[in-house]
Amino acid sequence: MSGEPMRLCSCCGELVPLSELEYSFAYPDAYYALDEAARFAPGTRCNDNFCVIGERRWFVRGVIPLPMESGDMYRIGAWAELSADDWRTVWDSWDERGSDLLPPLVGTLANHIPSTYEASTLGLNLTLRLHDQTRPSFHFAGTGHPLEREQLQEITPHRARYFTGLGSGDKA
Ligand SMILES: [Zn+2]
Repeated sequence: MSGEPMRLCSCCGELVPLSELEYSFAYPDAYYALDEAARFAPGTRCNDNFCVIGERRWFVRGVIPLPMESGDMYRIGAWAELSADDWRTVWDSWDERGSDLLPPLVGTLANHIPSTYEASTLGLNLTLRLHDQTRPSFHFAGTGHPLEREQLQEITPHRARYFTGLGSGDKA
């Protein structure tokens, strides 16, 4: 038997299992776009949390929180591109306490969510907030993009399942 909790969906009145798997990208799109040789070039490296391309593009992994009408939080795992200085700030504070108190940073979304919106999500302006216990969170304001509306409003359990159904996001 599945132990997944169920949530009542307002779009259809059905009970929908709340998936524990969330949609996420393993790398920034710019890193996916590199061929094997370029990924091993000096100054380029990626791990689970940080990515650098050619010592000139700087990325941090975080989440796009999407509040659900059930009161749960769905999180899309994605990457933000930051300035070198701000990237360094995140790097330095990663294992430190007090990250919650740091001012938000500005960046751009470094992943395109496929098949979902007419306009790409790549390059959307965001603010990045640091947290002590969890990955940084990305928040949109003034983008006019429907993803921002989904973040400000609440998504249904079916919408959450839709995102999960997009797969791992891993194009590598
Ligand atoms: Zn529904």
